[in-house]
Amino acid sequence: MTTADVVIVGGGIEGAAAAWALSQRGVTNVVVAERNTVGSGMTGKSSGIVRCHYGVSSLAAMATVGLEVFEKADEIFGHDIGFRQTGYVVGVGDGDVEPLRKSLAAQRAVGVQTDEIDAAEVARLWPHADLSPFGAFAWEVRGGYGDAYQTAQAFAIAARAAGVRIRQGTTVAGLLIECDKVTGVRLADGTEIAADTVIVATGVWTHDFLSPYGIDVPIRVVREQLVTIAPGVEIGNVPVFSDLVSLQYIRPELGGELLFGNSDLSDVEHADPDDYLNRATEAFVENTVERVGTRFPGFTDAAITGSYAGCYDVTPDWNPVISRTCVDGLVVAAGFSGHGFKIAPAVGRLIADLVVDGRSADPRIPESDFRLSRFTEGDLLTSPYPYSGAGQMR
Ligand SMILES: Cc1cc2nc3c(=O)[nH]c(=O)nc-3n(C[C@H](O)[C@H](O)[C@H](O)COP(=O)(O)OP(=O)(O)OC[C@H]3O[C@@H](n4cnc5c(N)ncnc54)[C@H](O)[C@@H]3O)c2cc1C
Repeated sequence: MTTADVVIVGGGIEGAAAAWALSQRGVTNVVVAERNTVGSGMTGKSSGIVRCHYGVSSLAAMATVGLEVFEKADEIFGHDIGFRQTGYVVGVGDGDVEPLRKSLAAQRAVGVQTDEIDAAEVARLWPHADLSPFGAFAWEVRGGYGDAYQTAQAFAIAARAAGVRIRQGTTVAGLLIECDKVTGVRLADGTEIAADTVIVATGVWTHDFLSPYGIDVPIRVVREQLVTIAPGVEIGNVPVFSDLVSLQYIRPELGGELLFGNSDLSDVEHADPDDYLNRATEAFVENTVERVGTRFPGFTDAAITGSYAGCYDVTPDWNPVISRTCVDGLVVAAGFSGHGFKIAPAVGRLIADLVVDGRSADPRIPESDFRLSRFTEGDLLTSPYPYSGAGQMR
């Protein structure tokens, strides 16, 4: 039997970030068991948007930790990981101006660099947009977008260089538990890895993986559709634009195209993560064309160039679970609800803190915010400054 101090189930960005953070703390007798390849799950579908705009202070702080790692990627990993610092602008309607201002104040209190800017400044950043229906805008000069796949690879490579064993093509069939204490994992080939600590970072597959052990991580799997557009005009160096009036986000792609994503989460589509439609439906495309046409009336020659879909692992409050469980030694990190890329470096650090010290080392990021028991306690992690639309992730 193989032995390790820690087994991480799942080699998505969260599992890879945890492996890297553990290695940074000197814990290198670690095995990451990934049934396919690193980053091949929903990490590979991520839009990768990087912003610190969260009303929940601990999440805003986690996003600042992520940003610092992305900005120093060359120094930390020795190569580019795909982070593009285009800036990030978010616009809200008249009814959301006060929540936006309160949220900005709370964000600044935990170190986020963000300002309110006016429509004239946004018009300079995004010359083709109709900005008339917006009541206020916030700007993060350090925001942008990254490449979640490359970032997961970078974490895994750095962890491996420190001694972590990354085992791809390795399916974990189940947990080994004795007297409410985890003792390791059993692999699909029948072999076992003994470990006193097991971290389950299996994304959209987490509910089904843990439910046989009486651990209910309340995750719904929600399909999300993305559309790429050739705008038909030269758009220049535009920032990421979160449009909370039409409930969409727009991200520049390398090569002059734009990626359009949906921020209207009021009517979600549940899906099977192993069998879902990997493209946008006609209805979604039509709706995108309408929303894009409304926001960018100058895109008269725009053309849809492609579409795909991915799945979010959505919890009741749209925030993650990074938590010990009722089984001693078993930690879960899942339920990232469509916004787990930008915070992944902080997630890894929090997991390493939980394993090594039993608690978070960052007072801005209390581990209790992400405890699994909050759902049964009815104490959900929600923004004190909710927006009328797309409040879930902000
Ligand atoms: C379409 C889309 C757009 C997004 N856009 C953004 C964004 O703009 N900004 C942002 O911050 N976040 C975004 N996200 C969210 C972010 O990408 C995810 O939260 C993050 O990638 C999830 O990583 P993960 O490691 O939890 O899951 P995954 O990447 O899915 O990794 C889980 C891994 O576990 C493995 N696994 C499962 N079961 C087993 C088993 N039994 N044994 C071994 N391995 C197993 C799987 O193969 C998989 O590789 C987006 C997500 C999607 C889907």
